[in-house]
Amino acid sequence: MKPKDFRSDLEPVWCTGCGDFGVLKGLTQALSDLAVAPDKLAVITGIGCSSRLAGYTRAYAFNSIHGRALPIATGLKLARPELTTIVVGGDGDGFSIGLGHIPHAVRRNVHLTYAVLDNGIYGLTKGQASPTTESEFKRERGLAGIEERPLNPVLLLLSSGCGFVARSHAGNLPHLREMFREAIVHPGFSFVHVLAGCVTYQKPTYAQEIYRRCDLLPADHDPTDFARAVEVARSERFALGVIYWRPQGVRPAAAGADYSDLTGIWSPGATTAESGFPGE
Ligand code: SF4
Repeated sequence: MKPKDFRSDLEPVWCTGCGDFGVLKGLTQALSDLAVAPDKLAVITGIGCSSRLAGYTRAYAFNSIHGRALPIATGLKLARPELTTIVVGGDGDGFSIGLGHIPHAVRRNVHLTYAVLDNGIYGLTKGQASPTTESEFKRERGLAGIEERPLNPVLLLLSSGCGFVARSHAGNLPHLREMFREAIVHPGFSFVHVLAGCVTYQKPTYAQEIYRRCDLLPADHDPTDFARAVEVARSERFALGVIYWRPQGVRPAAAGADYSDLTGIWSPGATTAESGFPGE
């Protein structure tokens, strides 16, 4: 099937130039590459501009509840394991009201792909600051910027123990397509951080500024090196690519701490899972 065959009959109501168009395109291209049958595909989303993507996809699609797409998708995948299950939401949906679900979805390690379309703003409700809003952001309606530091999505997922963490940009379709492909075939919980611009409620320069801060990961980047992945996540620059990947059956590293001398706690990236390790 061609990418367009994964599109529903609904016309997107996103603003012209919204980064979400690129994500819809990259995702449908990846689904076409992987020859996923639409009747074996589920797309579960939260609430927000990016979560409208469920309605634009030809699949079992559910535009669900604010911040609750992950537990809904987890239940679906456990009941219908034959469905390729994609979860999509925005930075507000996922990292504010939905934040508490992320580490639990990660530790259950059910085979889902979670894509957060991060534009650093609440677009659907007209431009409030989100958990990833940069601190120099100024709201148009007079308030003088955001004091809180933005949350770091990649670091958050790494520290939760996620076995597949990638980042891409909605304006780089070949790259986005590849990241979706790799995430979908990862046989556990996978996370794709997608930088996507809001052309309506962000400053006009925002999208260019974010794009300027992006670099492709170097060819010699070793995605199994957890310490290196954390360094990459902490950078001021946005590294694009598979930042971290852990083979199934290997226990997650504990972020930021070396527990190797403690009995009963696995050392970072070292040991093989015992049978019955959750989700594997
Ligand atoms: Fe996209 Fe922003 Fe328009 Fe929402 S408000 S559709 S995020 S450009």
